[in-house]
This record gives sequence, C-alpha cells and structure tokens, in this order.
Amino acid sequence: MAGRKQWWALAVLVLPVLLISVDMTVLGFALPFLSEDLAPTGAEQLWIVDIYSFMLAGLLVLMGTLGDRIGRRKLLLMGAAAFGAASVLAAFSTSAFMLIIARALLGVGGATLMPSTLSLIRSIFVDAKQRRIAIAVWSAGFSGGMALGPVLGGWLLEHFWWGSVFLINVPVMLVLLIVGPFVLPEARDPKPGRFDPLSALLSLAAMLPVVYGIKLVAEHGFTVKATVSVLIGLGLGVVFVRRQNSLDEPMLDLKLFSNRAFSGSVVTNMLGVFAMVGLLFLVPQYLQLVLGLSPVVAALWMLPATVAGIAGALLAAWLAKRIRVSLLVSGGLLVAAVGFLALTQVSSGGGLAYVVVAFTLLGGGVALSETLTNDLVISAAPAERAGAASAISETGFELGGALGTAILGSVATAVYRSGLPEGTAESARDTLGGAVATAHQLDPAAGQALLESAREAFTQGMHVTAWAGVAVLVYTGVQAFVLLDRKKIPQCGADPAYHEGMNNHALVTRLREQLGDAAVLTDTDVTDAYSRDMMPLAASGKPLAVVLPSDVEGVQAVVKACAEFEVPIVPRGAGSGLSGAANAIDGCVVLVLTKLDQIVEIDEGNRLAVVQPGVVNLDFRNAVEKHGLFYPPDPSSYDWCTIGGNLSTNAGGLCCVKYGVTTDSVLGLEVVLADGSVLKTGRRTVKGVAGYDLARLFVGSEGTLGVITQATVALKPLPQLPSTLVAAFNSTEAAGEAVARVVREGLVPSLMEIMDATSIKAAEAYLKTDLGTSSDCKALLLAQSDSGGEVARKELAVLEQICVDCGADLAYATEDLEEGKMLLQARRVVLTALEMYGVWLTDDVCVPRTRIAELIAGCERISEEVGLRIAVVGHAGDGNMHPTIVYAHDSEEEFARARVAFDAILDVALSLGGTVTGEHGIGRIKREWLAKEIGEVGIQVHRQIKRALDPGNLFNPGSMFSL
Ligand SMILES: Cc1cc2nc3c(=O)[nH]c(=O)nc-3n(C[C@H](O)[C@H](O)[C@H](O)COP(=O)(O)OP(=O)(O)OC[C@H]3O[C@@H](n4cnc5c(N)ncnc54)[C@H](O)[C@@H]3O)c2cc1C
Repeated sequence: MAGRKQWWALAVLVLPVLLISVDMTVLGFALPFLSEDLAPTGAEQLWIVDIYSFMLAGLLVLMGTLGDRIGRRKLLLMGAAAFGAASVLAAFSTSAFMLIIARALLGVGGATLMPSTLSLIRSIFVDAKQRRIAIAVWSAGFSGGMALGPVLGGWLLEHFWWGSVFLINVPVMLVLLIVGPFVLPEARDPKPGRFDPLSALLSLAAMLPVVYGIKLVAEHGFTVKATVSVLIGLGLGVVFVRRQNSLDEPMLDLKLFSNRAFSGSVVTNMLGVFAMVGLLFLVPQYLQLVLGLSPVVAALWMLPATVAGIAGALLAAWLAKRIRVSLLVSGGLLVAAVGFLALTQVSSGGGLAYVVVAFTLLGGGVALSETLTNDLVISAAPAERAGAASAISETGFELGGALGTAILGSVATAVYRSGLPEGTAESARDTLGGAVATAHQLDPAAGQALLESAREAFTQGMHVTAWAGVAVLVYTGVQAFVLLDRKKIPQCGADPAYHEGMNNHALVTRLREQLGDAAVLTDTDVTDAYSRDMMPLAASGKPLAVVLPSDVEGVQAVVKACAEFEVPIVPRGAGSGLSGAANAIDGCVVLVLTKLDQIVEIDEGNRLAVVQPGVVNLDFRNAVEKHGLFYPPDPSSYDWCTIGGNLSTNAGGLCCVKYGVTTDSVLGLEVVLADGSVLKTGRRTVKGVAGYDLARLFVGSEGTLGVITQATVALKPLPQLPSTLVAAFNSTEAAGEAVARVVREGLVPSLMEIMDATSIKAAEAYLKTDLGTSSDCKALLLAQSDSGGEVARKELAVLEQICVDCGADLAYATEDLEEGKMLLQARRVVLTALEMYGVWLTDDVCVPRTRIAELIAGCERISEEVGLRIAVVGHAGDGNMHPTIVYAHDSEEEFARARVAFDAILDVALSLGGTVTGEHGIGRIKREWLAKEIGEVGIQVHRQIKRALDPGNLFNPGSMFSL
C-alpha cells in the first residue's frame, strides 16, 4: 500500500500536468500581446500555436517507449529540464522564429512529461483502488489547469509582459527537478528489447503529416494539400504498423490492442475528446462575441465546469467501488451528451444559463469517464509497458482533439458562412471575430445588421456542432458499455477488475441457502485474510465472499451458482503459494478447499492412496508412513500447504532430484468442471493409456481449469534413514562443476542442495555458529542418500570424491541422523535468517544443471546493479534455484528495485536455457514471462484449452495468462 512518500510523489507528478493544461489555454490570451511585440506573419502565428501540439502528438509514442527503456523518472526529469529551459527561451524570444523553436522544444518536453507521469503513477500505486484515486487526482489536476489558465493568464498579462505566461513554468519545473529524485521511484521495463531507430523515425513521420493535414482541413477544408498530407501520414502509419508486427521486439506493442479493456478505453478517450474539443473553441467566442462578456467574466462562468470536472474525476474512484465500470463510463458520457443537448437551446439573444449547465454536465461527465478509462488503459497493460500504454492513450487523446477541431470546427465554420447574407465581406465570413471587426467599420445600422446575422449564424453553427457532439457521445457511451463490460472482457489486467460483484447479495443468499451460513463468510475482516498468498509482488482484490464447502456436492453448488451469476471463482488451499495464484480479485468468490480434508483410502497392497485436496501435506505423509509408505513431494512449506495446492502448482521439494515433482505421483483426479459436472480421470493401475492424460492437464493448472476435489496418488516404500554429506567450495564454479559431474556419472542422491556465500553468511549469523567453512567459502553443497546401509555409504563416498576432485576445501559425510539434521538446518533456516536484514522476495527459476554457477554469477551481478542483497539457495540436483532478494519493508523505493531484480533474474534464467518457474508456478506475477518462455503458439494453445474447459472464464481469471 502506498504511504506518505507515494502521495507526495503524486503531488509532484500532478505539477507538470497542471502546467501543460495551463499552457494549452493561456497562449490564446497572450497571442494579441506577443503579436504586437514580435509582429509574426499570419503563417508564423499559426506555427507558434500549432508546433507545440505537432511535437507533442508526434513524439508521445516515442517518449513513452523511451521511458520504459531508460527509466520513466529519468525521462521525466530530463523532460522537466527541457520544458523549463524552453519556457525561458519562449519568454525571452526576440523574434517569431525564435518563439516557434521554443514552442517546438516545449512540445518535446511536454511529450516526455505526459506519458511519464501517468506511467509512474502506475508503478508507484500498485494497489488498484489507491491507483484509481491517484489517477483521479491527476485528472483533476488537468481539469484544474484548464480553469486556472485563463484566470492566471488574464492576471499575468494585466501586470506583466507576455513572456510571463511562459516563465511561470520555470519554478514549477525547478520543484520537480529538486523534489522528484527524492520522492519518485525509478521504473522501467526490465526487458525492453532492442531500440529500433527506424520505428522511432516512422512514428514521428506518420503522426506529423496526419496532424498537419487535419489542421489544414480545419483551416481551409478538404484541400488537395490537406488530403495528400493525411494520406502520406496514414501510409507511413501502415509501414510503421507492419514494421512493428515484423519485429521480435517492437517499439510499440500492438498486442496491447488485443486487450478489449485497453483498446475500448483508448477509443472511448479519443471520441470523448473529439466531441469536447470542437466546442471548447466555440463556446468562449459565443460568450465574448455573442453575449458580449469580457474574457475574465467569461472565464469565471466556466469555473463551475472546472469544479464539476475535478469532482467527476475524484468521484470516479469512489463510484468504481460500487458500480460497474462500463456503466460508469457510459453514464458519464451520456451525462456529457445531455450537456451538449442543453447547448442546442442557446440563442443569439441569450443562453448563459444553458452554457453554464451544459459545461458543468460536460466537465463532470467526461472527467468521470476519462478517469476510469485512463485507469483501465494503464492497468490493462503489463506494468513494464506502462509508459508505452499511456503514450498510446495520450496520442489517441491528441488525435481525437485534432480531429475534433478539424471536423467539428469545419462544420461550424461552414454553417456560419452559409448563414451569412449574400455579399457579406470576406473578412466577416472567416470568423465571428472578423465579423465584429468589420461591423465596427460599417455605419451603425449596417454594422448592427451584420452583427445580428453573424451572431445568429454562429449560434446555428454551434447548434449543429452540439448535435454532432450528442451523436458522438451517445454512440461512444453505448460502445463503451459494450466494450468495457467486464463480464465479457477477459481478465487480463495486472490488477483485478472493479468491484462489480460487490452488490451481488443474491449470490451470497443462494450460497448460504445451499451450504449453510457458517460456510459463507462475508465479514471483510475475515475475508481479507483469504485474499492473498505469500507473494508480496502480486496485487490482490476484495472478495465478495469466502466459501468453505466440505464435500464435492458443496463445491458443485458453488461452481453452478457462480457460473449463473457470472462471478469468478478463485480456488484456494492454504494460501502458502508464492506466485499470487490464489489471490482474490475484486468481487470474486474465494473457494477454500481446506474442509475437504479426508484421507479416503490407503491401499498398501497397490501402494496408492485416495486423498481430498484440503489435507495438509505433512499430515498425509505422516499418515501413509504409518503404513510403511512414503509420499515423496515435500515442499518446504509441507507443514501447512495442502495436497490440492500442491497438485495445482505441481509442487516440488527437496527430494525431487530422486522422486520427481507432484505430477510424478499422480494417478488420477476428481475435478469439478465449470458447468458443475464432475470429471473423474486417471486410473488406479500402474499402467494405463486410455485417452488423453487429462489428470496431468489439471496438475499445475493453478486453479484455472477446474476444482480438484480428490486425488489418487502413487506411494513409494518408506526409504531408509538418510546419510548426509556436506562440501564447501571456494568458488561457485567448482561447486557447479561438482553438480554437473554427479549428473554425468548417473548418481541420484535423494537430496542435493546448494547455498551461495550470501546464504551461508546469513545462516551462520542466524544460527550464531560457524558452519566449519573458511571465510572465503563461496558455495556449500549438501547431499543425502536414503538408500541405507552399504549402498548409501558407497553413494556418498563417490559424491565426496567428486567434490574433492572438483576442489572442495571441505567434504564431510555422516550417517548420524542428528548430525545430518543439523547440517541441513543451515539450508532450512536461510529464509528466516534473511529476515534479519529485511523482508525477502523469493524467485524461482530452473536452469540446466550444468549452468547453476552461471545463474549464481548472474544473481551477484544483479545484486550489485540494484544495490540489494540477493541470496541464492536451491535444489542443485534438479537445477531449481531460489534467488532471494532482501529489501527494507518500509521502502517503496527498495521494493521497486527488488521487483527489477526479480525480473532480471528471470531474464538470466531464460538466457541460460532455463525456465521462469521450477515449482512455484506462474500465478499473477509471471504472466508476461510465461508468454516469453512458451511463445505465441504456446499461449494460444493454453487459451484454447482454457476456453474449451472454462468458456465463461470462471476459474481464476487473469491468473497465469490472459485470454
Ligand atoms: C516458506 C515457503 C516455502 C515454500 N517452499 C516450496 C517448495 O519447496 N516447493 C514448492 O513447490 N513450493 C513451495 N512453496 C510454495 C507453496 O507452498 C506451494 O506452491 C504449495 O503447493 C501451495 O499450496 P497451498 O495449499 O498453500 O495452495 P494455495 O497457495 O492456496 O493455492 C495455490 C494454487 O492452487 C490453486 N488451488 C488450490 N487448491 C486447489 C484445488 N483444490 N483445486 C484447484 N485449484 C486449487 C489456487 O487457485 C492457486 O492457483 C513455499 C512457500 C513458502 C511460503
């Protein structure tokens, strides 16, 4: 959760946004003054206004992806410096040309500031609700700037020279530059891929002609020049898109658009702005030139709209907790449409009240919906692509604005012209301002007549534009309702959906009727305890209810009811998982299986058992041990994790090297499917090949395909008591070589663990003992044999010899059980020992056993880069390593660095030919990494299987991969 520092960071991030919107509105006021001073030509004046938005629109995408690469904070600070410097240049410009250059630089700075601020909010506020509030404040800052601009501009221009409207940027940028490095964390894409300069060039080359062409349309209608310009831009846009699709590491991740929440939100934003912007230009003219208000009075009448805008943005976060987001977004747009409707009632004789009401509805409605769509845009994209995602959204925003000005502006002008009487002077036909100026030069009667017809024609133009706005907003509202309907959007955001199920009392009542009150928990103090697992990186939501059935019929009832109410289910065992796979999403039902806790059968003759999912691993092991049998999977959490959780994550443990992971013990499963039917799959025999191996499909499926209600598992004869070997090495390479030789020579110890120097030191400090290693000991190998007697002695002797041959400083074997336990204790206490230095975040990768030393070296390098302690322990026998990152529990900044390290370790593992998870699973923290590891075809097959078994995306949506 965000603390005080994060809210300060937000305050700092709102500053540039506020300024950008002040700048957008203030220039119009300054133009007459600077025109007097610098005497720009007509064309130069246009460039002074337009170059800013050209640069902004052209560079947003590039800057967004650049931020993901070089770091968003770094880019933001660079942008702030550029913006400040360009402001000084603009303020002291001595010629129109110089001012155009300064405005271009301001555009470059603006392009770095906008996407960086939004994407930093994404990385700072990991909690969905807090982030929504943060985005609301950010949006409110933007609306506030719009209102502040005219008032501040008016005041400044009254007291100072025109340059002062630019100079106000400087102190704000200085605050950002000074405070920013302290309160803003750095965030970037840990695997940004190669930067493609051609793509960067193409994105700029495509946007500029489009925006230029649209501006030409706005000024002169559909001329050849304008059309050619737009076509060139579109053509280059196609080349850009093709290039992105052909690159392995594209600059713009077009796959983002396959997410409906993302693309729906971008389109909604774009159309919302399209409708709004046309009128933003017309209404101030109406107030001043038709109703005859002074600029400052006109600006003051706009204040209620600003207040409504700020309120709409802030209310969005609160409302989203209670009402479905698609309803809110379309509701906001429809309220705005009503605002446009009110504008159709104004007349050239009066209508101030209508304008104020209309703008208040418009401001509030659009702010409400755009705050939510902005949140959807950045939460739908993976965290590391936040910069690119928000840049796409901003570009859509800019494009919508440009198109709105061009198309609606042209329509208004055309209606205005056609409403003027024949023979009206050309100067009056251009603009209403022109008509007012012309009227002053005519005799009073003719002047008055011209004024009246020009005002009437202008009002007609405004009516037509307002009707167009109504049409666009109603369409956008309906479209948003359909596109953003959560039930139809696959849950693929990094974060859970909105609280859409929160009011689903009917479902709760149904569940209570069927399972009894005691089995359905809704008290949030209690349900919170079931809302997440042990992985601090993963976000979690608020469940509608936690349900604890005690038999398979109860599970079926829950599944059927949730399917009917379209409420997602998150199955859960003990919640010891380390991937966020059991984390609740907002409004879901958490289905806890711990009450299905019977060991149904232990068949000594066939060495198998039938067990329910809620049985704790250690209880099961102890139970079968009484029959002289052994259940091998032994995760370190075995004293509290459940068999159901182990099956669903395909858990491993210390003895995997000899006995394999959970799936190697599974014979058959009973699973409740998405329609509530019960699938019994697998067998009780040693062999059997009938049909697809469906049992193994569900093993490791992390609760995304069905609910496991029973398992038939194979058991082994109880092994002999273990003998233990410890070997110390002064280099990880030597230890790695020893592991490789053990594998090469076909030895299969029952356990082989490795500890690096950091974990050895932590264990020694914690146990307050010297493990007998020298101070330059870099790695410790621990191995066991459970073959017993002479066989075990021989196995350990060969192992010991290999270690010595590979340069071990110390190699010591013992048959003494207690001594063996003490030696293993060093390995077992590492995580607890690391808590002396802070909180830990454990990664889970698996590399080929010959490359363990390289992985450890990679972790050492990453540790130096991020400045955090990383201890590596792992199951050397199977290459499954757990690099564990330690960070200060109260430091968001260290947490962010830990996250960077976490991803960097995954990257190293993949580059060594390894996998991103050996036993903890994908869950909610490694979804992008699954895609990277198994590729597009692999992900598609996953999706097809998921759709076939769970067409309603009922089970654990958004975990493991997105649909
Ligand atoms: C200190 C510590 C050490 C650990 N050591 C290891 C280790 O050595 N090896 C290892 O593999 N893991 C380890 N883990 C991780 C964790 O204990 C395992 O992933 C374990 O299998 C999770 O079991 P659980 O009952 O807690 O499941 P949960 O965390 O509750 O759930 C895990 C997943 O299983 C799903 N699920 C649970 N029950 C069912 C069901 N009946 N039907 C369908 N889906 C279901 C959930 O939806 C979720 O996706 C460790 C964790 C900790 C905290």
